[in-house]
Amino acid sequence: MTWASHIIVGSATAKVFGLNYILTTLGAILPDLAEMITPKRVQHRGITHSIALWLASLVLLWSTPIRDCLLGVVIGHLFMDSLTVMGVPILDENSRRITILGGRIRTASAGEFAISGIIAFVAFVMLGSFTLDASRRDWRALHDKRVIDRKEYYDNRFKVF
Ligand SMILES: [Zn+2]
Repeated sequence: MTWASHIIVGSATAKVFGLNYILTTLGAILPDLAEMITPKRVQHRGITHSIALWLASLVLLWSTPIRDCLLGVVIGHLFMDSLTVMGVPILDENSRRITILGGRIRTASAGEFAISGIIAFVAFVMLGSFTLDASRRDWRALHDKRVIDRKEYYDNRFKVF
């Protein structure tokens, strides 16, 4: 997958799940960055793309701010790479590789950009056109209980979606 696709899907992930944009999008390119900065040449899509290692980190660091970055890695990078012919390894370059939907996508092909384009369209255009109030606050009740003032109530009362 190209960086463009990882960045598009990373930012879409941040949008859909309400995560930090910078951390999530950075996570979406992190496995390839790690591959570039390691001193000795590591195999392409080897240990830097390890499903087991990244998922374990995600579980261990779930309650830290790094979680957003790791969700970017898993959804914006590993998931997208797993759609390609090469797939991603379970542990390292010697282990079995996983592909999703038969791993039919070729890097930088029309198929790749169609998929990242569709994901961006759903995240930013379809979901973006009716921003869900994730907290599902009942503004009227908050006003009656004097938690918010009249101005805040009037500003927010029509924000059902
Ligand atoms: Zn990669």
